[in-house]
Amino acid sequence: MGSYFQALLFIILAVILLWFGYNLFWSLTGGKSRGKRRKTQKKSSGEGVPGAPRTCPVCSARLERGERVKSAAFPSMGGTDRLMHISGCVYCLEGERQRKCPVCGHALKPEEILIARMFDKPGRSHVHVIGCSRCRGPRSKR
Ligand SMILES: [Zn+2]
Ligand SMILES: [Zn+2]
Repeated sequence: MGSYFQALLFIILAVILLWFGYNLFWSLTGGKSRGKRRKTQKKSSGEGVPGAPRTCPVCSARLERGERVKSAAFPSMGGTDRLMHISGCVYCLEGERQRKCPVCGHALKPEEILIARMFDKPGRSHVHVIGCSRCRGPRSKR
């Protein structure tokens, strides 16, 4: 049983270390806009509530709880944001609704996707669509 407690202790230690590392990371990267962040958080308290109906960025359909937007997020390249590819929700992927880019307004083909930046924030993350594979290009940077 000794090894069991040792393993438990190790897990607790790892969690504490992770938590400290996470806090340190955010105090370093988000330290500049700390005062600003508090203000904007208060302002946007009505949106982005977990579990509330959301909208699909591709076809702007209102999504119920459990209906998820198909997307892929890539690891951060040293910044505060991550690159994200959004394919769409159940309605526009099945062809029920027209897929459209909110940036250039072009109708998207089934294989074309939206490119977005995801800003990880403690508590919730913010996704900002920057274009589609048509107007941004599959490999464009910024
Ligand atoms: Zn959709
Ligand atoms: Zn576009």
